[in-house]
Amino acid sequence: MAGKIVVLTGAGLSAESGLGTFRDEDGLWAQHRIEDVATPQGFARDPGLVHDFYNSRRQQASGAQPNAAHAALARLQQDWPADVVIVTQNVDGLHEKAGARAIHMHGRLDGALCHACGARWPAPARMAPQDPCPDCRSPATRPDVVWFGEMPYHMDEIALHLQACTLFAAIGTSGQVYPAAGFVQEAAYAGAETVELNLNATDISAAFDHHLIGPATRIVPAWVDRLLAAAG
Ligand SMILES: [Zn+2]
Repeated sequence: MAGKIVVLTGAGLSAESGLGTFRDEDGLWAQHRIEDVATPQGFARDPGLVHDFYNSRRQQASGAQPNAAHAALARLQQDWPADVVIVTQNVDGLHEKAGARAIHMHGRLDGALCHACGARWPAPARMAPQDPCPDCRSPATRPDVVWFGEMPYHMDEIALHLQACTLFAAIGTSGQVYPAAGFVQEAAYAGAETVELNLNATDISAAFDHHLIGPATRIVPAWVDRLLAAAG
């Protein structure tokens, strides 16, 4: 019987769409230190630098196209006879561009957040430290992304989905970033089957029942085809 599926996606899914990650040795991230551009302390020290970094990432993401793996997950969400919940660590909008809905646990590049009052609104192409909040007018706007050292979004909702799923898949995520690394344990504890789809084996591979190794654009569409064929 087809039950609820929870899919966690990470940077490996968008890598083949040309979006780099902080682990890459070239590209945008390589020009900066993580503590300067992706922590609350870095933002407090130099908000202009951080806004510029995210302005560049926003521009890069807005020009990126979803790949075959994003498309396959959108198909799974549409055609699977039960719920398919996509939880993503990615701040790009590629799941949505592919026609899927996703829970963004690390926020989104196309969102802005007011540090002073908590208001949220669509981010303009370029953000700057002196931008006023549309609600409270404070010059306290920031990208609506979760930085290192901050609590990811929607954790209560995600926990409920994990407790109710019969299959959990982690795709293109190293699993090193907690609390996402705990998702496989939560799903397994709830009795779900667990599968890891990744370019390489990872530190938490032993926690999964099954492993599919290879580029996301090859292994994800094949995995989705098998699931949908089995569901009839
Ligand atoms: Zn505000």
